Formats: sequence, structure tokens, C-alpha cells
Amino acid sequence: MKILIVEDEKKVASFIKRGLEDDSYEVTLSHDGADGFKRASSCEFDLIILDCMLPKKDGITVLHELREAGNQVPVLMLTAKAETTDIVSGLDAGADDYLAKPFAFAELQARVRALIRRSEQDRGAEIRFADLRLDPVNHKVWRGQSEIVLTAKEYNLLAYMVRNAGNVLSRANIADNCWEYPFETFTNIIDVYINYLRKKVDGKFPNKLIHTVRGQGYILKEGSAS
Ligand code: CA
Repeated sequence: MKILIVEDEKKVASFIKRGLEDDSYEVTLSHDGADGFKRASSCEFDLIILDCMLPKKDGITVLHELREAGNQVPVLMLTAKAETTDIVSGLDAGADDYLAKPFAFAELQARVRALIRRSEQDRGAEIRFADLRLDPVNHKVWRGQSEIVLTAKEYNLLAYMVRNAGNVLSRANIADNCWEYPFETFTNIIDVYINYLRKKVDGKFPNKLIHTVRGQGYILKEGSAS
């Protein structure tokens, strides 16, 4: 998942970047509106975090121009304060959500997740890894031609792993992204769910996809040893 951050306050920008990278997003920074617009127009991003007050071209203008050009990338607007006019013009210009500064990082994470999830569902695009296919609209899963029946929780966990394939996911990452409450109390539950998934997703297939990284967590990757 690729995210573009357009924010001229470099401290804020790199703080958001680091946090999102910890969540396994691929993050690009841009520090002014003109450059941000150019990068956003490349259509390679899954989400844009766009500040309102920017040098060269303000955030609302950037957003207007993107939407006029038919670019439907989800946009999370950042506003300096909860100014109703800023929020209204942002939403009018086609922002999908907004966040007033200062904000807690957890709040940003939650908005980012929700927007990405929503846009995947809108697009109805299948999520794929190896011979695994996930249908985000109907929450159906296949490996090759065999359908794998998962519970809602198992589906969310697998979708999160597929979206972050190739990255080691700690139990804290998993808890944060797939459960709504703090993980310290229930790290065992994650292991239990991973085992359910393993049985269903990898059980009868020689090419195992779910792997344990000792002392760190789990990773989705191709390879025979589990
Ligand atoms: Ca700014």
C-alpha cells in the first residue's frame, strides 16, 4: 500500500511517515502543493494525506485539480485547526475525510485504515498473493480453484497479512490492525487465530504461505517450511 504525504511542516511529515512505515505502508513525502499535485497525478498511490496550508499551491486547490482530472484516490485532509470553513471546503473539494491538527497518531492510523479499506471495497478489487485470492466485497477466499471458508475475523487477519505480504508483522501490528483493543491482554488469541488460518489456508497445500518469525511475529511469504 502506497501513501503520499503532502505536508510542508517537515517534522510533522516525518513523524507521520515513520509511524506509517512501522505499519508497513510505503510512504513518499512531498513538501509543497505543486510537487504534491505532480506526484499525486501519477496515480500510483492508494491514499494521499494532504495538508490544507501548503506553499506553491494550497491543499484545497490540489484536491480540486485532482478531482477535475478524474483522479479518485482517497484523500485525507489535514487542517491546522478544526476550522469549519476549511473542513467544509475540503469535503466540498472531494476529500474523503479530514483530521484537525494536532492529532494523536492512533487517530490518523484509524482514519488511514478505514479509508484504504473503504476504497478497496469500492473498487471491489481482488487482493492476491501467490495462488491466494481474496474478494474484499464478499469476503471470499480461494487458493487456486479451492474456496477457503473463513470467519469474519480470520478474513480480516488474512487480508491484513496479504496487504502486507513480505513484511514481518508483530503481534502488536496485528492486534492494532485487526482487533480494536490493546493487545497485551490477548497475544495468545492472535496465535490461536494464526493457527486456525494456517490449517485452512496452508493445511493441504505444499506451498506454505504463513510463516513464524521466531521472537518477532508472522510473515506471509512463499516457501515450503512453516
Ligand atoms: Ca502546512
